[in-house]
Amino acid sequence: MAKENLECSFCGRKKPETNLLIAGLDAHICDRCIEQAHGIVAEESKQSKNDDLSSELILKKPVEIKDFLDTYIIGQKRTKKVLSVAVYNHYKRLLQPRSKEDEIEIQKSNIVMVGQTGTGKTLMAKTIAKMLNVPLAIVDATVLTEAGYVGEDVESILTRLLQAADYSLEKAERGIVFIDELDKIARKSDNPSITRDVSGEGVQQGLLKLLEGTVVNVPPKGGRKHPDQKFIEVNTENILFIAGGAFDGIERIITKRLNMQAIGYSAAKKEDSLDNSNVLQYIIPKDLKEFGLIPEIIGRLPVLTHMNPLDQKALRAILTEPKNAIIKQYEKLFAMDGINFKITDQALDYIVEKAVEYKLGARGLRSLCEAVFTDAMFELPSTDETEFKVTKPYAENKLSFETIKKLKAVS
Ligand code: ADP
Repeated sequence: MAKENLECSFCGRKKPETNLLIAGLDAHICDRCIEQAHGIVAEESKQSKNDDLSSELILKKPVEIKDFLDTYIIGQKRTKKVLSVAVYNHYKRLLQPRSKEDEIEIQKSNIVMVGQTGTGKTLMAKTIAKMLNVPLAIVDATVLTEAGYVGEDVESILTRLLQAADYSLEKAERGIVFIDELDKIARKSDNPSITRDVSGEGVQQGLLKLLEGTVVNVPPKGGRKHPDQKFIEVNTENILFIAGGAFDGIERIITKRLNMQAIGYSAAKKEDSLDNSNVLQYIIPKDLKEFGLIPEIIGRLPVLTHMNPLDQKALRAILTEPKNAIIKQYEKLFAMDGINFKITDQALDYIVEKAVEYKLGARGLRSLCEAVFTDAMFELPSTDETEFKVTKPYAENKLSFETIKKLKAVS
């Protein structure tokens, strides 16, 4: 056949009408058909990727979610329950087949956890992300500023999420963002007419659109250092936002409200049933508003829960019980050098006592252990020792007053 008579076997265009005609065994294909076919392949693979992601997402029932949290986190029963339901509903919403006629739209169940630092808020978010096998970005609200000011724009949150998802947009769009220290962007005064502080309210406004679900242009490598980069459009509709904060002083707000209520209604009865040692358990959204969060933010974080302070018993359990408990980690480290690591109950109790005495909290447990075990971790690998036993006197010896003072200074 003459060259000019050759034609595309798909669209029938003659060779002179094409830019390129590629020959196969018994057929030809033109550049336009290749492009069209490529578009179809890309669309199909996107669809099947989405289907794959749905099957990758391991959605468990609330009871199973709580069981999983129990293996890593001590106590915080109520919060685990609330979180299990919120997470379950969020991902159920995400996996539901969308139909246009369906008028019932399930809203996002973004979460806010209120509780002292070191009580396990970040651990909660991390454990949920691990269980669901979704990317997690942990961001500190204190570094966020309104666009145009020194600090990070709120969009940087999504940059982090993209990074955590290895730049897979599909995965990032189903991920979890943990916003720590939300209380630090509270408005300084509850009266909006007095001050309009840039750092606080402005950031809250910026966060609003992310929380409710919108398409945001995100610089994949982060803000201002790479001005030439192309933006990625990230849809936040299916991203679960979990916020946490200590909200120092909110107890006073709660107590004040409870007292007012008590005066209003049958006072004696109410006061009888109040547990004054932990008023955080009575927190309601109104208290967050009083603290300085704008009502719109509170509305977009509809699941409100609290973390209990950790008592001596909880701290003791944290040392040995969770799946990757601190002591289990040291056992593993020593075992890698062929050393059988043992610690007596008295030594463990002593470490916990010191954590309580110096108010070091759960985070301090790790530093205390490090102080007790460091000498052994330095020396033993170079010896023939096969056993390392930590007793209370040994721990006392390593935890001199000076050492603890230093730990307290850094915690
Ligand atoms: P927060 O975010 O509330 O400040 P974190 O989750 O960062 O606290 O907790 C700090 C560390 O303390 C964690 O890495 C974990 O080892 C330990 N921890 C805190 N609370 C708990 C808990 N309830 N159960 C188990 N470990 C905990």
